[in-house]
Amino acid sequence: MRVVLVGPPGAGKGTQAQFIASHLSIPKISTGDIFRANVSGGTELGKLAKEYMDRGDLVPDEVTVAMVRDRLAEDDAQEGFLLDGFPRNVPQAEVLKKMLAEFGTALDVVLNLVVEDDEVVRRLAGRRTCRSCGKVWHVLFDPPAVEGVCDACGGELFQRDDDREETIRRRLEVYQEQTSPLISFYADEGILQGVDATGPVEEITQRAMSALRRFAD
Ligand code: ADP
Ligand code: ADP
Repeated sequence: MRVVLVGPPGAGKGTQAQFIASHLSIPKISTGDIFRANVSGGTELGKLAKEYMDRGDLVPDEVTVAMVRDRLAEDDAQEGFLLDGFPRNVPQAEVLKKMLAEFGTALDVVLNLVVEDDEVVRRLAGRRTCRSCGKVWHVLFDPPAVEGVCDACGGELFQRDDDREETIRRRLEVYQEQTSPLISFYADEGILQGVDATGPVEEITQRAMSALRRFAD
């Protein structure tokens, strides 16, 4: 299955992507994760991306699209994938459509994670990420047993630079202006499924899985 997850920053895309991808046995492809890996690896791509990420802006389309094209050409993505954080504007969605058409395929479904603004801000403000394994925690909603330490691997937890108040505000603006038009884009394509993304993580995963099953029928 070829699936895209959309939703505002902090909606829980990364959290859900890992469970949905594992239920469907497809790779999770997160452009944010790939950019962050390049930033910590000090690559040229990372240096370029960091400038935009720190401001809360989108990395330019040509850079992002080239990166996704390479990733989708890898062997593990041939039978399906779950894209988290891409596309993030209508031009990227149009390129993705063309790219998949070149491979002789198309998206099956786009899941839109729906959460109200106040909740999104609470989720982003308390997000902590493990420096070693990348697992995402929340200081209130999903705290590790020991503050600042990842339960999964013992790594150090940190707050992303772009999860500070001012950058959060900018990212929400960017979402409204550039990303939210994807909802009507994919509704017009007839592949959009809304998922209520409030409540416990496991319940949201169940809702997402039933939406996917409904769509597959
Ligand atoms: P996104 O990838 O959409 O930006 P994340 O998956 O990183 O979102 O989640 C943002 C924050 O919200 C994280 O700290 C995560 O632990 C927390 N979170 C995710 N899902 C829920 C939920 N259902 N209820 C409360 N907090 C959640
Ligand atoms: P969140 O889910 O919290 O919004 P991501 O981890 O998906 O954050 O993205 C973090 C940052 O990486 C974005 O604010 C943006 O600068 C960059 N980025 C990620 N995906 C894309 C994309 N598809 N196009 C452009 N920039 C992107």
